[in-house]
Amino acid sequence: MDDLLIRGATVVDGTGGEPRIVDVAVRDGRISAVEVRRTEAASRQVDGTGRILAPGFIDIHTHSDFTLPLNPLAEAKIRQGVTTEVVGNCGFSVAPALPGKAELLAHYLSASAPWLPFIETDFATYMAAWPAIAVNTVMQVGHNTLRLMAMGMESRSPSDSELLHMQEMLAEALEAGALGMSSGLFTPPGLYAEPEEIRALGRVLKQWGGRYSSHIRDESHMVNDAVAEAIEIGASCGIHVQIAHLKLSGIDSWGGSEHLLGVVNAARMRGVDVHCDQYPYDTASNPLRFLMPPWIHEGGMDAMLTRLADPYQRARIRQKLAEVGFTNFGRLESWADIRIANSPTAQAGKTIDDLAREHGQDPLDVACDLIIADRGATRILVRSMSEDDVKAILADPLVMVGSDGPCVAPYGITGQGKPHPRLYGTFPRVLGHYARDLDLLSLPQAIHKMTGGAAAALGLVDRGTITVGNAADLVLFDPERIADRASFDDPHQYPQGIDMVVVNGVVVIEGEEHTGALPGRLLRRHGTILV
Ligand SMILES: [Zn+2]
Repeated sequence: MDDLLIRGATVVDGTGGEPRIVDVAVRDGRISAVEVRRTEAASRQVDGTGRILAPGFIDIHTHSDFTLPLNPLAEAKIRQGVTTEVVGNCGFSVAPALPGKAELLAHYLSASAPWLPFIETDFATYMAAWPAIAVNTVMQVGHNTLRLMAMGMESRSPSDSELLHMQEMLAEALEAGALGMSSGLFTPPGLYAEPEEIRALGRVLKQWGGRYSSHIRDESHMVNDAVAEAIEIGASCGIHVQIAHLKLSGIDSWGGSEHLLGVVNAARMRGVDVHCDQYPYDTASNPLRFLMPPWIHEGGMDAMLTRLADPYQRARIRQKLAEVGFTNFGRLESWADIRIANSPTAQAGKTIDDLAREHGQDPLDVACDLIIADRGATRILVRSMSEDDVKAILADPLVMVGSDGPCVAPYGITGQGKPHPRLYGTFPRVLGHYARDLDLLSLPQAIHKMTGGAAAALGLVDRGTITVGNAADLVLFDPERIADRASFDDPHQYPQGIDMVVVNGVVVIEGEEHTGALPGRLLRRHGTILV
């Protein structure tokens, strides 16, 4: 007997194919039947009439390793229909943390993971200790974390032994089942790495069947070069490349999406295994300190704080800002485009412009003083993209959907501040705002980006489509009602229109409420396959 039978829903199966009205049955955590009229009995039957039934959404780019241990219910994600989260992105991972270096890592990640306790651990132990949570997890090891462990915040190439150390730590993570390695080449210490260092690690990925994802070196003036660098790593190492949160940041780069997408598609045509992802907003989020020029960070936190207090260094920063705008974000329309998300000292929701007016101070001085006051822990939102580029990127078939956010909840420790609404709204926003309301893409195309397309990019073989034998990760939603409700002013809002979410055959969301179930699995890579 089946455990669950969803009858009469319009099934959009994740392949990109046309919707069809069929019954879908679940047994022992797997999809046991997809039939026009299922006659076999089931312990539980759900009427799906008028609803869309899709595979559970795969959030291909997240930072939920910073929060899922604190919120195992995975509230902000599961309520969007997300059933699998890929963590360890942008070069940041919580492991390995070598003996004596857990605090170093905690300080390094303070603006991203302010609430997580850090402990000394190797990657295999970290994976083994991953708690029971509501969603499936896919792990990557971060290059910035590896570099921090091997050589701190040194602004130079690694010695042979330091490189070997990074390769060994990477191999250990891959042996434990990590999907691959992420890089964060715009953020120190990752930005100190020459392409050859990444290639040397890429060869280890190739050996194990691991994959490479990259927060590329630049997303503004040099974005074309940065995309080319990521593609070259994939081509020369023979590995899959995932270009994270593809965007054109800063006024001077706006309008470049057609060219950029052309470059990625051309690489794909010549056989490079490359995909991209995107969060569907014109605003980014980052630690405030990473808007400052790279040289500020050399040598670590105390060196940075000393430089920021130095009037000569501030003058240098001011000059750099006048020339090219903010590091990685380019030129913005005004300081009002930078807004506090979370900060130990400044009020969330205020812009740097607001604070400058209130204090009668220059905005750059406000920013530098803020970084000094909280030792770099302030996180901000930056409105830096054009909506036309956001739409063009979303419409491209090579682009998947990733929130770039940690999983939070409106209550408890993760409910603080005014984080990016993408944490709560990414997937319903694509389905409601962009697919239904703006008709930018069809519902099967939109769903494919979040399911079958993402699974293919990850090598995930038994999820992402509604197929007999696949794991039963499912989302049932109302196509007329589905919408994001989180805004920049009021971000801690769950979306609407999602009736039921099933993970590994277990109902986690029902009637827009959480059942408390924690059926998520830690997925491990075996060769090039993830299960
Ligand atoms: Zn990133």
